[in-house]
Amino acid sequence: MVELVRVRYAPSPTGAPHVGNIRTALFNWLYARHTGGTFILRIEDTDQARSVEGAQEAIFASLRWLGLEWDEGPEVGGSYGPYTQSARLLLYQDTAQFLLQENTAYRCFCTQDELAEMRKAQQKRGEPPRYDRRCRDLNEIELKARETAGLPNVVRFKTPIDGPPITVTDTVRGKVVVEVSTLDDFVLLKSDGFPTYHLANVVDDHAMQITHVFRGEEWLPSTPRHLLLYRALNYEPPIFAHLPMILGPDRTKLAKRHGASSLMDYQTEGYLPEAMFNFLALLGWSLDDKTEMMSKNDLVRHFTPDRIVKSPAIFNIEKLAWMNGIYIRNIPKDGLATMLQDILAKSIPETLEEDSVEPLEFDYIQNIVPLVQDRLRTLNGNEVWDLCSFFLMRTPTYQILPPIPKGFDSNTARIALTATEEAISSLKLFDIDTIENALRALANSLELKTSLLFGAIRLAVTGRTAAPPLFATLAVLGKKRVLDRLRFAINKLAQE
Ligand code: GLU
Repeated sequence: MVELVRVRYAPSPTGAPHVGNIRTALFNWLYARHTGGTFILRIEDTDQARSVEGAQEAIFASLRWLGLEWDEGPEVGGSYGPYTQSARLLLYQDTAQFLLQENTAYRCFCTQDELAEMRKAQQKRGEPPRYDRRCRDLNEIELKARETAGLPNVVRFKTPIDGPPITVTDTVRGKVVVEVSTLDDFVLLKSDGFPTYHLANVVDDHAMQITHVFRGEEWLPSTPRHLLLYRALNYEPPIFAHLPMILGPDRTKLAKRHGASSLMDYQTEGYLPEAMFNFLALLGWSLDDKTEMMSKNDLVRHFTPDRIVKSPAIFNIEKLAWMNGIYIRNIPKDGLATMLQDILAKSIPETLEEDSVEPLEFDYIQNIVPLVQDRLRTLNGNEVWDLCSFFLMRTPTYQILPPIPKGFDSNTARIALTATEEAISSLKLFDIDTIENALRALANSLELKTSLLFGAIRLAVTGRTAAPPLFATLAVLGKKRVLDRLRFAINKLAQE
C-alpha cells in the first residue's frame, strides 16, 4: 500500500507569524498538494508563558491570505484532533508515565535555585552548562521520600550516556551524526504537567501519523533528541527535511530592518498574496536555478523536496517588489480599477480639504489604470496615491515653486501656456493623436523646442516634472480639466 503523505505546520502562538515561519507552512502545503496528501495545522501552545493573545487568529489569517488552506486542524477538525496541544495534555502525561515505567525517563526534583547553582559551578570550571543528572539514579527510598513530601518535579529523558552516535538522515542535509555524549537529559514534562516541545512534538507527529516533517533549520539540533524519543517509544520516525535559514541581503539573520517582518505587514504594505507565494516558494527551493515567475499551480506541479537547497536563502525585498510589480501588471484592468478605487478612498491624506479631491469615479479610474499599471510596484496606499494624486487633485500641487518650467521665465511661460490654452480650446476631438498633432504644431509656430513646450505643459497641468506620457495623460484628464489647470498655472505665474 502506498503511504499517503501527511505533513503539518506546527506554529507556536507567540505572535503574528513571520515570513520565515510561513515559508515552512508553504513548503509543507506545497508538498501535500504535490502528492495529493494532507496538510495539517497544529497549534503548539505548550509554552503558556510565551503564548500571545490573538496569535492564533493571526496564524489563521496569514495562512488564509496566502491560500494555504489546511485539511485538518483548528476550525476545520479532522480525525486526529484536537489539534491544539493544550487540549491534549493527558496524552503527553500518559506517555511520560509510560517512559517512567520503562525506565527511559526519571523524575527530577531539582529546584530552580539548585539548577542555577549547578550552572554557576560548571561555568566556574569552564564546563558547558547542562543538567548533571543528579536525580537520574535516586534509589527507591530517596524517590519515595521526595514523592511523599509532594515535592514538585519534572520528568527528564534518560539520554544514553555512551553508545553509538545518533544519525539524522535529512532530506536536505544528508546524514548528520551527533554523539550522544553531547546531549543532556532533557525535560519531557514540566512540573505544571505541561509537556516540553520535544515530548509534545514527537507524541503528536506519531499520533497524527505525520509522514514528513519540513521545518526550519533551527530545529535540527532538536532532531537527535526526537530520534531518541521515537526509539524509546517504539515509534517509527517521519522523514525529516530541515529548510535552509533565511538571511537578509547583508547575510545576517532576517530582521525588521530588511523589510516588514510579519507576513500580514506585507499585505498592509501592498503586496499581493500571489507574489508573496511565488517569492516565498523560492526561498530555499528552485525549479532550475533560473525560473523566477511561477504560479501557485506551477509550484504545486513541480515542488519536489530534492530541489530544496542547503545554503541560506536571501530575502531580498527589492526582488519581492519587482515580482509584485509583475503580478500587478497581470491584473485585468477592470479588476485593478476596482482595487485602486478602494485603496485611493482610504489613502487620501487627511491634511487635504475634502473638496480639493475629485470624487473617485470608476470610469475615470478605469482610464487612469493604463497609465499607472506598469509603474506600480506595490498597492501600498502611499504609493498609489503618489502615482495617481495628480489625476485627482482639483488643482495641481507644484513640485517646483514658483511653477516656472525649465527654459522659461514667468513671462515667457505665461505666453506659451496661454497659446496652449487657445490651441486646446479649439480642439473638437481630445484623443492622444489630436493632442499630439496640435501641440507639435504649436511648438513649431512658437519656435520652441518641443521638449521645452511639453515640459512647460506637463508642469502646468500635472504639477510634476516627470509624469506618465504627456499626451495620454492629457487625454485621460480630459479637455475641461486640462484647460482649468492651464488657467490655474497662468494665474499663478501672473502673480509672480
Ligand atoms: N512549534 C515549533 C515552531 O514553532 C514547531 C517546530 C517543528 O516543526 O517541529 O516552529
